Amino acid sequence: MGNRRQLSQITTVVIHCADTPNGRANTIEDIDAWHRQRGFRRDLSIAPKHQPQLTAVGYHFVIEVNGTIRLGRPLQETGAHVEGHNYNTIGICLVGRDRYTPEQWSALRSLVVSLSHPGNGLSISTVCGHRDLFDGKTCPGFDVSEWIAQAYTTDLNNILEAQ
Ligand SMILES: [Zn+2]
Repeated sequence: MGNRRQLSQITTVVIHCADTPNGRANTIEDIDAWHRQRGFRRDLSIAPKHQPQLTAVGYHFVIEVNGTIRLGRPLQETGAHVEGHNYNTIGICLVGRDRYTPEQWSALRSLVVSLSHPGNGLSISTVCGHRDLFDGKTCPGFDVSEWIAQAYTTDLNNILEAQ
């Protein structure tokens, strides 16, 4: 299987949403189960000790409603999250649909900044949303390039305040 890759081949971060009701506390384990049902399978031979209980999840990171960043696939394993663009991308999924908690926004910012940091072994030149690579998608429900251009300032319409 050709699912193993070099970190230096990774150029792009793709942000997704789970397409779940905003604020509902779904977990990476839920997404793993949904992806298993869809027939996704990880190649656990690539990093046998990296989240071995997650056998399917297609994303590399999932940001849960409380802002916890959960690890999915290891970066050296090609993901399954964006048709035709998996090979050189990292997939991050926000739980929700288009409104995320302040904790999720803060976690997303930290993660994107750290993945984009020069000298970390990756070659990230682009951070975009799923919809930027796939016509007809709305995922992740906000304009990623605008968010970055505004120094990671979130549009108020995309913030889910504490209930
Ligand atoms: Zn998506």
